[in-house]
Amino acid sequence: MQERGKKTPYIIGLTGGIGSGKSTISSMFEELGAEIVDADKISHSIVRKNTPLHKEIVKHFGPDILDEKEELNRPLLRNIIFNDSKEKAWLEALMHPAIKNTISGIIKESQNPYIILSVPLLLESENYDFVDRVLVIDVPESLQLERIGKRDNISTELAQSIIKSQMNRSERNKRADDIIVNDAPIEEIRELVKQLHVKYQQAT
Ligand code: ATP
Repeated sequence: MQERGKKTPYIIGLTGGIGSGKSTISSMFEELGAEIVDADKISHSIVRKNTPLHKEIVKHFGPDILDEKEELNRPLLRNIIFNDSKEKAWLEALMHPAIKNTISGIIKESQNPYIILSVPLLLESENYDFVDRVLVIDVPESLQLERIGKRDNISTELAQSIIKSQMNRSERNKRADDIIVNDAPIEEIRELVKQLHVKYQQAT
């Protein structure tokens, strides 16, 4: 039950392409005291060993889907659903309600004026219609390639193909309420984050 007088926090959906700086910028908001909800982390935690969803997935795909620690073999699972749209739909139908429930629970319990909800595919998905405002982390493609190349040690070709598979930059930016262009030194970006933090604290 909601406490009397408790206001629902304002929900800021934070998104951006691979390696745009979502984690870096979420951490800056967190350092200022903002509450961060990371959809990726939630989607990992709800399928850990001994969870009901873990059991469902093993029942569906068989024990070969597990690694030596009996956790899900994520690369294998990713590969299966990448090549089989029916399996992808099955997994999404299982995961999305659970992710949404977990997020709703966190929002209900929150005492904060706003929440940063970090979702890589926020704008591609229909599951986040409750988001009040969209913050896009934008980065020029050349810089994006350079940063993911350095961080993940992957080839430019692979990085390029991942970027191509995601929503294109102009489409994403068109749907933003706020944009941080993450092409400046960290300290400059931190200043922009501070300004948004002040604005979001006052949002209703
Ligand atoms: P993913 O989509 O893979 O989850 P992400 O959007 O969370 O990535 P980060 O991991 O935050 O992106 O950033 C990608 C890389 O770029 C990291 O190595 C990070 O340290 C670096 N980076 C982010 N912002 C800046 C910046 N303003 N200046 C220099 N390096 C940066």
